[in-house]
Amino acid sequence: MRFSSKTVLITGAGSGLGQATTLRLAAEGARLSLVDVGAGALEQTRRLIAEAHPQTELLLTVADVTDEQAVQAFVQATVDRFGAIDGFFNNAGVEGKQNLTEDYGIDEFLRVVNVNLNGVFYGLKHVLAVMHRQGHGAIVNMASVGGLRGVGSQSGYSASKHGVVGLTRNSGVEYGQFGVRVNAVAPGAIMTPMVEGSLKQMGGDNWEAVGREFVSVNPMKRFGRPAEVAGTVAFLLSDDASFINATVVPIDGGQSYKY
Ligand code: NAD
Repeated sequence: MRFSSKTVLITGAGSGLGQATTLRLAAEGARLSLVDVGAGALEQTRRLIAEAHPQTELLLTVADVTDEQAVQAFVQATVDRFGAIDGFFNNAGVEGKQNLTEDYGIDEFLRVVNVNLNGVFYGLKHVLAVMHRQGHGAIVNMASVGGLRGVGSQSGYSASKHGVVGLTRNSGVEYGQFGVRVNAVAPGAIMTPMVEGSLKQMGGDNWEAVGREFVSVNPMKRFGRPAEVAGTVAFLLSDDASFINATVVPIDGGQSYKY
């Protein structure tokens, strides 16, 4: 119960990695402030928590992380409700189209960067102000192996996730002196609705075969599981990681180190 009487704010909590992390932190006793742009998705997470961990204190907000005023409002609402923000999983993101850079489209580039990079910056800006005042806190930003290596066919995603890595290093270096740690996780392919959508873009009806081909080059020969990301995020947000700051942890079965 590393998070008993601690408050964690999670964006993109309605699906995939945000939902898995929500469940993990609820199991470890956290009070949770959950944000997602999808009301139905957020309700699904609420139901899962009510079934598995009914004692969990929850604050639910439907909001878009690209709206800075909305971000400021849900950060303030979390402090008003729980008195502090001990941990923040800055996770909401979209994948965007897959095609060559020349065909990518400016509108798509701006849309993906707006969610994945601007949204992460707004969250950092407002949560860091709270944690600076508190004198403690831990943040995990959501990067990707696409923020560490060239993946291809993902201009907007790649630019935004490399940007998240840069923001993480910058803020970690700035805020360590105030007792606040800022790290990032860089998952490889983890089987969530986002990755399913991506495989469908690549393979259409044949997407499951494309998925098998995709993981055949992974040293561990499989997709990652959302719970494996949740466990790493929980570790980085916890006091077990108390001297880990400004770093990016790949969660990819070793694929990003393979020649
Ligand atoms: P997902 O699509 O299952 O979940 C993403 C959630 O974020 C959804 O509930 C969605 O409604 C929410 N969201 C999207 N845009 C939002 C916005 N503007 N404001 C608020 N909420 C918003 O995807 P996932 O696989 O769980 O991905 C979560 C994060 O992990 C993303 O940042 C993604 O880039 C990153 N990631 C995923 C993988 C993977 O393999 N699944 C790998 C690397 C990084």
